[in-house]
Amino acid sequence: MRIKKIEAIPIKLKLKKTFKTAIRQTDCAQNVIIKIFTDEGLVGIGEAATPTRITGETQESVLAVINNIISPLLSGSEVFDIERMMEKIDSHVVGNTCAKAGIDIALHDLLGKTCQKPLYKLLGGYRNFVETDHTVSLDTPEKMAEVAETLVRKGFNILKVKLGLDPERDIQRVKAVRKRIGDQIILRVDANQAWSPKEAVKIIKSIEESNVELVEQPVKAGDIEGLKYVKNRVEVPIMADESVFSIEDALRLIKREAVDIINIKLMKSGGIYSARKIISIAEAAGIECMIGCMIESRIGVLAAVHLACGAKNITRVDLDGAMFLQDDIVIGGIKPDVGIFKLDESHGIGIKDVQKV
Ligand SMILES: [Mg+2]
Repeated sequence: MRIKKIEAIPIKLKLKKTFKTAIRQTDCAQNVIIKIFTDEGLVGIGEAATPTRITGETQESVLAVINNIISPLLSGSEVFDIERMMEKIDSHVVGNTCAKAGIDIALHDLLGKTCQKPLYKLLGGYRNFVETDHTVSLDTPEKMAEVAETLVRKGFNILKVKLGLDPERDIQRVKAVRKRIGDQIILRVDANQAWSPKEAVKIIKSIEESNVELVEQPVKAGDIEGLKYVKNRVEVPIMADESVFSIEDALRLIKREAVDIINIKLMKSGGIYSARKIISIAEAAGIECMIGCMIESRIGVLAAVHLACGAKNITRVDLDGAMFLQDDIVIGGIKPDVGIFKLDESHGIGIKDVQKV
């Protein structure tokens, strides 16, 4: 079965309310839906997000890279030859990991549809459900505690609290949230690169008593020595997010023993294909992985759920990206029950189509 045509469709996804982290603020996601048509009538569906502040991509750049470079490169390729296709793409386009991820997701969806199997079965079939956290976006300690309480009331058992806008108040934020949600809820925090290494150590030591499960990306993405400095001075596990895009990034951090956990996102790794390589080298090093996402529709999110269900070494997921959206434009595919995604037997990632918008 060969690739006949690739379609890249720009979409605008409105958020229920403004999402705020230490590095960006957004009220709408401008993503790209990718459809790969084959000569036997099957269609693979993928999605590229465009977190410009993180990957440097925009909706326009994703469309240009797919339409002008990737699409002609893959035309006529055998759909199963993912390694060969990815090598071809990487030899023509540096970076642009979201555009690559969108194509990679659609190819993996096709793999499942062709084999008439849910994708996670082809990726290892380790489990059939995962439980995601829900993110609490940056605000005053009081407002964040309020949001956290509402989420717990809704049934979420794991929360991820965004920190880092004004480091001196971060300790208050964590304490206020923990006080309001009680001791039973798993609490992770994400500083999105906001702290200096010394600041990070100070803040993390002060929030240790709030029983924080892990601290994500305390320092600048490129500051590997800073990550290691923090990791060696605190009890709470340190997780890298923005520091790890590629397999090479992961290897560098592992060699330097700079982190305890790695957060993989398809939009950073360039898709499932590379993500699986990161998962394997991390596993060999005894490092667990989390799968996260950007603000994505259920297409990108479900691709990540399938990957997470396939691999033993994915021990946590942060896949609340579609929960922030006002409308669900995706047809078919499972929906989470509060925080739990339980996969069914639908083929590929399970998506049928996308509503015309
Ligand atoms: Mg993060």
